[in-house]
Amino acid sequence: MRPRICLSRVERFLLALEQAMPPSYDKKKECTKGYACGDSCISRTRKCRKQANGTPKQEYVEAIGKKKKRTTKKSEKPENQEKPENQEKPENQEKPETQEKPETQEKPETQEKPELDKTLGIPDISPVAQRGIDFLGVEFAHRIEQVMQADAELDGLKARFEKAKGLLDKARKKGADEATIQEYAQNMRKEWQAYYSKVQQYDEEKNRIMEEVRDKLKTDHASPPISLSKPVQRLDKKMGIQDSIDEFFSITGGHGQSVQSVGKTKDRAFYTPEFNFVNIGSELDRNGYKQTIFHEFGHAVEYERRGEYGDFCADFIKKRATGRPEKLSKLTGFSDYGDDEVAYPDKFVNEYVGRVYRDKTTEVVSTGLEHFTSAAKMVELYKADKEHFYLTIGAIR
Ligand SMILES: [Zn+2]
Repeated sequence: MRPRICLSRVERFLLALEQAMPPSYDKKKECTKGYACGDSCISRTRKCRKQANGTPKQEYVEAIGKKKKRTTKKSEKPENQEKPENQEKPENQEKPETQEKPETQEKPETQEKPELDKTLGIPDISPVAQRGIDFLGVEFAHRIEQVMQADAELDGLKARFEKAKGLLDKARKKGADEATIQEYAQNMRKEWQAYYSKVQQYDEEKNRIMEEVRDKLKTDHASPPISLSKPVQRLDKKMGIQDSIDEFFSITGGHGQSVQSVGKTKDRAFYTPEFNFVNIGSELDRNGYKQTIFHEFGHAVEYERRGEYGDFCADFIKKRATGRPEKLSKLTGFSDYGDDEVAYPDKFVNEYVGRVYRDKTTEVVSTGLEHFTSAAKMVELYKADKEHFYLTIGAIR
C-alpha cells in the first residue's frame, strides 16, 4: 500500500510547475526560484544559453568565436606597425622542419659554389684586384660583401627615424596638444633606438670581418734592416715608428723592402725610388705616423711590382676616369696643391687616388695601404671603392 502524501499549497504549486517544465530541465530540483540552466540555476526572465549537461549552445560558441577573432585582428595591427622585424622571427620558428629538409637536399653546397660571382660584380675588373679576391677566396669575399650590404637595412631604419622626427616637428608646428606631441616623441625615440642599436651591431660585424682579413694577410716576415735618421729615432720612442714598419712588412709579406732609410727632412712626406728613401714629414694621424709609413712604403710596393704587373695602377685610374685630368687644387678645394699636381676625376676613396705622374707612377697602392692600418679604415676603403680594396690586396700578394 502506497503511503499517503499530504502536500501544502506551496508544495502543490511547485510540483505543478515542475511537471510543466521540459524533461531536460527537471534535474535541478533545488532550483526553486528560477530554472536549471546547464549546471546552475538562472532567473526565469533570462534566456538559457547552455544545454542541460553544461555545454554551451553551438550558436553561442560561434558568436564567441567570431568576437574573439575580431579582437585578435584589431590587436595585431598596431603590433605590425611597431615591431616589423619581430614578426619575421616567429615565422621562421613556425616553419616545420619537413619543409626545410627537401630544400637542403635539392641544393647541395656543390651546386651553389659555381653561382658565386668571382668578380663580385665589379665590371671589367683589374687583374690585380681579381688576384686580391682569389687570395681571400671567392666565398670569403662574398661573406665580406654580405656584411657590407647591411647598409641597405641601415638606410631603411634611418629613413624610419627621419620620418618619425618629421611627424614630431609637424605636430609641434601645428600646435598639437601635449599628449599627441609626447606620443610622437616617444615613437621617434623608439625609431632612433632601433637604428642606433643596428649601427653598433653592424659596425662590430664589419670590423670583425676586416680583422679576419688582417689575420689572413699577416705573415711572420721580419722587417729588412732600415736605417732611421736621428730625428726619426727620437720620434720612434714616442710614436713607435719601428713598430709601424714591422706591422707593414708583416701585412705586405715583405713587399716594399726596397726602402733603405727613413728620415724627417720636410713637412710634406714623400718617397723617392732614386735614393730608396722615405721622408715621414710632420703630419700626424690617430696612430702617430702609422698611416704615413704605410702610405710612403706603399709607393715602394707599387714601384717594385710594376716590373711584374706593368702599369697596373695607371691602367686602373684610366679605366675608372670620368673625365680628363684636372688640377688637384680644383678637385679637392685645397690650394696647397701645386699647379702641376693633376688627377683623373672619379668616385675614388679620395681625390688624391686619381693623381698621375709623368712616369706613370700613382697614388693607388699608397692610398690603398694607408687604409690597411686598421679594420675601421679598411671598412672605409671597401665601402668607398671595392675594386681599390682588392687591388691593394693583390699588390701585396
Ligand atoms: Zn703618396
